[in-house]
Amino acid sequence: MAAEDWATAAALPEQVIPGLRPEPVKAQPCMVTDTPDHQFVLGRRHRTVVAGGCSGHGFKHASAIGEAVARTVTGEGSFAELDFLAADRFTG
Ligand SMILES: Cc1cc2nc3c(=O)[nH]c(=O)nc-3n(C[C@H](O)[C@H](O)[C@H](O)COP(=O)(O)OP(=O)(O)OC[C@H]3O[C@@H](n4cnc5c(N)ncnc54)[C@H](O)[C@@H]3O)c2cc1C
Repeated sequence: MAAEDWATAAALPEQVIPGLRPEPVKAQPCMVTDTPDHQFVLGRRHRTVVAGGCSGHGFKHASAIGEAVARTVTGEGSFAELDFLAADRFTG
């Protein structure tokens, strides 16, 4: 991984722990599924229930996403207004 990829992050530990060597021992690229509006994709497309596009912040919402998916699959009503997460909102 190129130094410029972690240079910004490397400045932080030094501010918090003076004397700490800034170069990471190990660096690993990772992937997040980003959407144009950085909101999740959640909903039914025909017979398929889609959940994803968490844009780097899905972990903390996992239980609510799971509940919403379960309710979509079982046909139970949603516990909140989730139309803003509709799977077809980018297809016009
Ligand atoms: C480094 C890093 C730090 C993050 N930090 C935070 C944070 O602090 N807070 C936060 O809220 N979010 C954070 N996130 C984002 C969070 O991890 C994701 O938003 C969340 O995990 C997305 O959930 P997901 O179910 O869409 O995808 P994933 O969690 O990626 O789950 C997808 C699953 O599908 C499986 N899979 C893939 N292909 C197939 C296939 N063909 N068949 C069967 N299974 C398959 C994969 O093995 C994986 O288990 C971070 C992400 C990264 C990478």
